[in-house]
Amino acid sequence: MNTYPPPAVTFVRGAGARLWDTAGRSYLDFVGGVAVCSIGHAHPAVADALAEQARILLHVSNLYGTTVGLDVAQTLNRLIGAGEGSVFFANSGAEANECAIKLARKWAPQGRYAVISADRSFHGRTLATLHATGQPHRHGPFQPLPAGFRHVPYGDLGALRAAAAAPDVAAVLLEAVQGEGGVWEAPPGYLEGARQVCDDAGVLLMMDEVQTGLGRTGRWFGFQHAGLRGTNGVEAVLPDVVTVAKALGNGVPIGACWARDDVAAAFVPGDHATTLGGQPLATSAARAVLKVMEEEDVPARAAAGGARLAAGLRSIPGVAEVRGWGLLLGAELRHRPAAEVAAAALRAGLLVNPVQPTTLRFVPSLLVTDDEIDECVGILGRVLAEVAA
Ligand SMILES: *Cc1c(COP(=O)(O)O)cnc(C)c1O
Repeated sequence: MNTYPPPAVTFVRGAGARLWDTAGRSYLDFVGGVAVCSIGHAHPAVADALAEQARILLHVSNLYGTTVGLDVAQTLNRLIGAGEGSVFFANSGAEANECAIKLARKWAPQGRYAVISADRSFHGRTLATLHATGQPHRHGPFQPLPAGFRHVPYGDLGALRAAAAAPDVAAVLLEAVQGEGGVWEAPPGYLEGARQVCDDAGVLLMMDEVQTGLGRTGRWFGFQHAGLRGTNGVEAVLPDVVTVAKALGNGVPIGACWARDDVAAAFVPGDHATTLGGQPLATSAARAVLKVMEEEDVPARAAAGGARLAAGLRSIPGVAEVRGWGLLLGAELRHRPAAEVAAAALRAGLLVNPVQPTTLRFVPSLLVTDDEIDECVGILGRVLAEVAA
């Protein structure tokens, strides 16, 4: 259907941070399938895991037990590090968030169902996650949307406290860095304050880590930046619910909703389900991805690569500001529409994403090399100089 503009280029092959089009021309990929190809295109560990699993068992149904998803759930539980929890596997980020929203409604006492999220947020495109998404221009044509969603300005703890105090609220849903909204990281103290607000109101703190999760920001999860700066003497912010997707499958569709066990216990058999979520093929990819991520220490690589990329971008005259954490970066352009710059960059052999009208987003493979980062900065510098001229 006509949901995306006609593509400017068609790709047939990828390897690491590179792609090749139908004419055999090579490109440097700093879109990474929109923060999905976390360990690069055609990673052999994922290819081998998929091929092997395809010969063993693709799918049986969650009516029966399988073993692969259990490994993935245990690894997620350990990396999230917010207490003992349980995982529901889905097929996408929006579905992981749907699970979180349903869980919050089931967990909360009667009459509490509302979810507070932030202006400029992005939580998915299903009817409920679209309403959670704090971008009203996307809501209009799809009204009426499910009730029970309200938005507050991101970073404003007073507004969050006031909204969370309403008697019908079940949960707060936040991104540690607003990715689709233009790469806006949580201001110092915001996540710490949000945890306190949720505790005081008796509502869940749910972190949407679909874009920020699994090493991207320089920590395993975006919420793990909180407290580390000693803000308000808080040691760590432990969310009640965490959703992931994008990076988890490196391109194979999978999402997951983690909740601490006392929260997850609100679901009983029949409350929520999925035919394909958690099936062995997708979870075999996720298991391979997580293994590579741990072996390569992707949070450290994202922190170092992100610092290098941010410094390079800041050295370009046409870049006014660089935002974000790790390898989730946004460059605010001085003059040109970001879409025009991204189109020129594509012609020059570089994929970058015009996430907002004046903002380019950079979300390459977490295994991107220093040379590839320097090459990206070089191409972008030339492109911005040309469009300025
Ligand atoms: C991409 C994204 C989603 C939606 O994920 P889909 O897999 O496209 O459904 C949800 N939340 C955040 C923060 C995202 O970046």
